[in-house]
Parts: sequence; structure tokens; C-alpha cells
Amino acid sequence: MTPRFFDIHAHVWDPAFNEDRNAVIARMQEKGVASIMIGTDFKSSQDSAMMASFTDEGIFASIGVHPIDDIEARFLVPLFDQLTEGKRVVAVGECGLDYSRLDEVSDVVLEKERQRKLFEMQIDFALAHNLPLMLHVRDSDKALADAHHDILAILREKKKEAGENLRGNVHFFSQTFAIAREYLVLGFTISFTGVITFSREYDEVIRLTPLDSIMTEPDSPYVAPAPYRGNRNEPVYVEEVVKKLAEIRGEDFETVRAATVQNALRVFNIVV
Ligand SMILES: [Zn+2]
Repeated sequence: MTPRFFDIHAHVWDPAFNEDRNAVIARMQEKGVASIMIGTDFKSSQDSAMMASFTDEGIFASIGVHPIDDIEARFLVPLFDQLTEGKRVVAVGECGLDYSRLDEVSDVVLEKERQRKLFEMQIDFALAHNLPLMLHVRDSDKALADAHHDILAILREKKKEAGENLRGNVHFFSQTFAIAREYLVLGFTISFTGVITFSREYDEVIRLTPLDSIMTEPDSPYVAPAPYRGNRNEPVYVEEVVKKLAEIRGEDFETVRAATVQNALRVFNIVV
């Protein structure tokens, strides 16, 4: 069945859902919300893959290692190889570069190098398994766009050999249209969270990006959209993100809803 909404980035394995995880999933199913569970290390990747395997439909998994959630976390290829054999594993990540906490490390050059290697391993893994990437990219400063510039340079280099096989989505997009355009040229999409319901910072990039390159995610359990701000976030709130996208773009809700679902099905190669 074609989902009514597609939340492309959720962490429902998070302890924030320990009390009522089944009820959260039941609400998703009732509302027709499909969701991709995102791993940030091996354990949560395994949890994501399990959730996808044990649910009838509507739950998918992305497996990978986050750049800074746990700096000890490794991307051990044979272990992740096994996870790709599970049902509905549709992406690799969240992976990427995060420069938002470089002021806390003793050697910035080494830390950037560590992140770059971890990321490149996952790009190669995604290519070997013909899966799209779920990118996590945070700059040290928006004006510098340093993490984005570094990621784009890596992707451009990889693109030369990999061609169309190299693809994916930039999750929690937090940059300008000038940066978005660089990803679009490479065939990547961008996704927006509940932040767009209470900050006007992204209105321009939302208006300028073609509708076929936009996806939606509330990023549960973090940053709930208005009117749920301050509460724990959950996948069904994706509807608020769709509403706001439509409002900002001046398009009707139904057009934006249907397009964001189709985009997710296309990018993550999901047949319904
Ligand atoms: Zn995430």
C-alpha cells in the first residue's frame, strides 16, 4: 500500500520510546505514515534492521555510524554486511561530517581525518550494496559551511567513478539554496524537519528547491514541530512538516504530500 506520509529519518529505537513504542508504531500505521529507522552505531543499526524486519509494512531501516555520536564507534564492514541481508534495509547512514563540536577536541586536523575516513568507508559500503546514503552534515558555523564544503568535495570525487550509483539524501538540511544546489547537481535530495514550523530561516531554500528533490522527517525523538514543540517528537508529526512546506511554497497540501511520498519511494528504491 502506498503510504500517506513518508518520514525518512526516525530513531524509534531510542529509549525515549521504551514505554510506548508499540503504541507509537500503531499510530503510524493508523495514519499511513511510513518511516525509516536510522542507525547511529552498530547496535542501533541492528535495532533499526530488526524493527524493519518484524513489522509487516511501513518500517524501513538505514544502517551506519554517526560521525560524532560516539567517537569510539567503528564501521565494521562484515557486521554491517550481515545487516543488509535483513528485510527493508534501504540506506546507509546516518553518516557524514559534523564540525559542530570541534572546539571540544584537542586535535582538529586528526578529528576531521577520523570523520572523513569513517564517512568514506560508508560511501564505499553503500556503493558496494547499491544503497543510497543518509547524510548527516553539520557545520561549525553556517556562514562557513565548512562541513558541507568538505562533504561535497568528497562526493564529487567519488561521483567520478561511481556515477549514478552514488546517491542519497541530506537529512535535517540546514543550509542555503546555494549549498542545496550543489547537492541537487550530484543527484542528491534534501529533507526538512519540524524546525521549519517555527523558524523562518529555511523559507528561501524551501521555495527554490524543486519539489521532486524534497523529503520530510520530523527526526524523532528530537525537535518536535509546532504545535507539539517541547514534547517528545514522533513520526506521525511528519504531517505538520508537510503542511508547512506547502504553505511556504504556496502549493496545495495534497500536491506536496503526494510528491514527498513519491520522492522517498524513488530515492530509497521502495516498491509498494
Ligand atoms: Zn538522526
